[in-house]
Amino acid sequence: MSSIVREVVAANQSYVQGFGKKGELALPPARGFAILTCMDARLDPAKYAGLAEGDAHVIRNAGGRATDDAIRSLVISHKLLGTKEWFVIHHTNCGMELFSDEVIADLLDDDLGTASFDGKRWSNPHHHGGHAAGHFIKWHTIKNQEDSVAQDVRRIREHPLVPPGIPIYGYVYDVKSGRLNEVKAATDAGRVVAKAA
Ligand SMILES: [Zn+2]
Repeated sequence: MSSIVREVVAANQSYVQGFGKKGELALPPARGFAILTCMDARLDPAKYAGLAEGDAHVIRNAGGRATDDAIRSLVISHKLLGTKEWFVIHHTNCGMELFSDEVIADLLDDDLGTASFDGKRWSNPHHHGGHAAGHFIKWHTIKNQEDSVAQDVRRIREHPLVPPGIPIYGYVYDVKSGRLNEVKAATDAGRVVAKAA
């Protein structure tokens, strides 16, 4: 067993010790909201947004982007589990700003091992032959965090399966301070759409 597996299993054993009444939590999130955010290891939505088990849905992917799959989860979150407000939270210093679709596709085409970044460019330490499949994927990279949050909120707002009555708020989390900074253009784009009279 790898040391990582041993650590995870040990941590879980102590979690189970203090699990208490959490086994009685209801399936739908008690506080009725959902957060779409990045998988970055420095972000802990439970801590930065004050969540306990059972409180809210947290949907994570690289960048916190409003991909088809993220929207699938949000639609389920509302339609079947009753969330009524959503947040899109990207962050400063995101890895998704450090490459383009072409860069990652070329790296994968050359070798599947972990590449290294010198602050400017990515390169492969080995060249054992990768696969061209990366050229067919849209990687949802980011050029500017505020723009990407606004773009994602807008995409969710305009999705035909998202009811107009759900407000969607856009924020950028600052990895230096832990602060959530609202992106006004995003929250504006995510406003509840008034019904036509
Ligand atoms: Zn990120």
